[in-house]
Amino acid sequence: MKCRKCGAKASVNMHQHKLALCKEHYLEWVPEQTERFIKKYQMFKRGDRILVAVSGGKDSLSLWDILVRLGYQVDGLYIGLGIDEGIGYSSESHRLAEKFANENNLNLHIVDIEKEYSQPIPVLAEISHRGHGKPCAVCGLTKRHVMNRIARDLGYDVLATGHNLDDEAAVLFGNTLSWSGEYLLRQGPVLPSTDGLARKVKPLCRFYEREMTAYALLRGIEYIYEECPFAEGSTSIYYKELLNKLETDRPGSKLTFYLRFLEARQSGLFVEHNVAADGDLPTYLHPCPNCGQPTSAPGLCSFCRLMEKVKAESNAL
Ligand code: SF4
Ligand code: ZN
Repeated sequence: MKCRKCGAKASVNMHQHKLALCKEHYLEWVPEQTERFIKKYQMFKRGDRILVAVSGGKDSLSLWDILVRLGYQVDGLYIGLGIDEGIGYSSESHRLAEKFANENNLNLHIVDIEKEYSQPIPVLAEISHRGHGKPCAVCGLTKRHVMNRIARDLGYDVLATGHNLDDEAAVLFGNTLSWSGEYLLRQGPVLPSTDGLARKVKPLCRFYEREMTAYALLRGIEYIYEECPFAEGSTSIYYKELLNKLETDRPGSKLTFYLRFLEARQSGLFVEHNVAADGDLPTYLHPCPNCGQPTSAPGLCSFCRLMEKVKAESNAL
C-alpha cells in the first residue's frame, strides 16, 4: 500500500475511507479532519477557552495534542478516581496525564476524588448501594459532576471529551435497542450549555478507535493501555465487540450507523416534548439547591444526595 499523498510506503490503511497514508501525512490528516468536524458541528471558535477531560488514555491525550496543534487555547482536567486495585490504574493514568502536560508545557487541573469527597470511587459506590456491585454508575455521576463544576467555576466556554466513533456507536446501539428517546435526543457531537451546565463537545466522534490508536502511537504519545479493571464484562464492551464483527464483514457500517443517526436527528425524527428556549433548562429540570447543577430529581441532585449519604455514614462510624 502506498500513501495517497506522496506515494511513500503507507503506515495506516483505512478501508472504510478507501485511504492509505504514510506517517507524516496521517499525522497531518487527523488534525485536518478534526478541524473540519469542529467547524461542521460548530463546536467552538478560536479564542474560546476549552477544557479537555483527560483520563491518561489514548483518545483524551490525542485530543489534547490535536487541539494544541490546531492552535486552540486548551487546558486539561484529570480526575483521580482512586481505582488502584490490581494494576494501579489511577496512579498510572495520573502519571501519564501529568507527564504529557509537563512535556508539552500545558496547564492540567487535577481533582482527587478521595481528597475532595473523603472516599475513592469504589468506596463511594459501596456506600451508595447503586450499580449492582459495580462502581460505574457512581463513577459516571461523579465525573460528570466534577467536570461541570470545574468548567463552570473556572470559566471555561466548553468541555471537550475524547469519545471516538466506537464509543459513540456503542452508546447509540444501546440507546437504540431500548429506544431511549431522551438519550437519543441528547446524543451527538455537541450538547449545548444550559443553566449550570457547560457546553460539551466530542471532536473525535467520527474517528474509529483504531485510527486514534494509530495517531497516539505515531505521535509517540505515552498512554495507559489497560482499561479500568471495572470495565471488564461491561455492556458497552459487549456492544463494541458486536459492532466490530459487523464492521469486519461490512467496512464502514459503524460510521454509517452513527452518521445516519445524526442526519435523522437533524431532520427532527426525535422531538423533544419539554422544549426550552436556547440556554434555558427543559421544564423537567431544575437547578439543585445545593450545587446549582440541573437535575430532574425532586430536591437535591443525585450527586449531592450521594454526598449526604457519605456524610451520614461517616458520622455514624
Ligand atoms: Fe469508572 Fe472504571 Fe466504570 Fe469507567 S469502567 S465508569 S472508569 S469505574
Ligand atoms: Zn447538587
